[in-house]
Amino acid sequence: MVAAMTGTTDQTTFPARAVGATAADAPLAPLEIQRRALGPKDVRIEIRFCGVCHSDIHFTRGDWGPVPYPAIPGHEITGIVAEVGAEVTRFAVGDRVGVGCMVDSCRECDNCREGDEQYCLSGNTQTYGSMGRDGAPTQGGYSDRIVVDEDFVLRIPEALELDAAAPLLCAGIATYAPLRHWGAGPGSQVAVVGLGGLGHMAVKFAAAMGAQVTVLSQSLSKQEDGLRLGASDYRATSDAATFEELTGRFNLILNTIGAAIDVGPYLMLLKTNGALVNLGAPAEPMSVPVFPLLLQRRSFAGSAIGGIRETQEMLDFCAEHGIVSEIEVISADGINEAWERVVSSDVRYRFVIDNSTL
Ligand code: NAP
Ligand code: ZN
Ligand code: ZN
Repeated sequence: MVAAMTGTTDQTTFPARAVGATAADAPLAPLEIQRRALGPKDVRIEIRFCGVCHSDIHFTRGDWGPVPYPAIPGHEITGIVAEVGAEVTRFAVGDRVGVGCMVDSCRECDNCREGDEQYCLSGNTQTYGSMGRDGAPTQGGYSDRIVVDEDFVLRIPEALELDAAAPLLCAGIATYAPLRHWGAGPGSQVAVVGLGGLGHMAVKFAAAMGAQVTVLSQSLSKQEDGLRLGASDYRATSDAATFEELTGRFNLILNTIGAAIDVGPYLMLLKTNGALVNLGAPAEPMSVPVFPLLLQRRSFAGSAIGGIRETQEMLDFCAEHGIVSEIEVISADGINEAWERVVSSDVRYRFVIDNSTL
């Protein structure tokens, strides 16, 4: 098929194998899709691994709004460069690379110029579910190949294995960026709410940055893991004593729960000037009591992934500090079971698809 819409008329689109959904309530199943023809600045990547983010489930099941089915999720992609366009300067065939949640942005707005493409004022192009350059919805990494503009491709340091590095492309940067923005480091007390994909990365990063880390989990069932990952304290939120004993303890709380929570009791755990940063993305609104904010100048904030420059910085930080994700590698036909386990908080701590099994 000639890809007339891309403006690269001498190229054809690429067929790709994938697993995806054709409806909100349909199980994921094998599909064939077309990747756009290689533009001059594009890189074609043979995908080796793709992490399973809770956002994949929210999106595909329609939690966040209408979905352009068929939908292929996946935005924690690692692989090998297989082909480069004529004007690509930063990558060569054989390079170890990654792609996260974004594949394009306007490049011109104030936020893009600052390197915060995730906050592009025109809206960035997401790896899946956005409108792509070829006029078709973008399709994610539960697939064997993808074509991406080189400006949105990351370099995976040699020290990091491609499977355990895949979750860094979303869970990694989504926790690294707010820890940096809110200044986690020596002398700061950080709490991580929810020990799942994002949560376990937050614990590792905050500890590596020198902060004192407490995990706030539904139960103590993962306490040993939390302490091994770098936390010095681990509490169950099902125990009312947790909220009494930790009042006023934290400079920063990262909430990674994907469901709406009662925010008030968590705000009371912040010190004066402390911030509760919501990373979880439930569809339902959450109500916020204002007095805990007013009385100690506390903040309730949000944060979305990070820019391309900061994502590369995070990957290099991981190589320097020996940080990767704790993963369970699955074959493509295990994806529906993996999703059910994520939904029931039964993940330790990220499922990663071996894309050679597609
Ligand atoms: P995950 O692996 O499922 O982890 C979430 C954890 O939250 C669970 O392991 C569980 O930990 C806890 N939890 C889940 N349901 C809960 C409930 N009903 N009540 C209390 N605790 C609950 O998910 P994830 O991939 O880390 O993603 C978490 C959320 O962040 C999702 O909403 C996702 O869409 C969003 N997200 C945001 C960004 C961003 O940039 N802001 C990036 C990626 C993902 P415990 O068992 O320890 O309690
Ligand atoms: Zn994600
Ligand atoms: Zn922009």
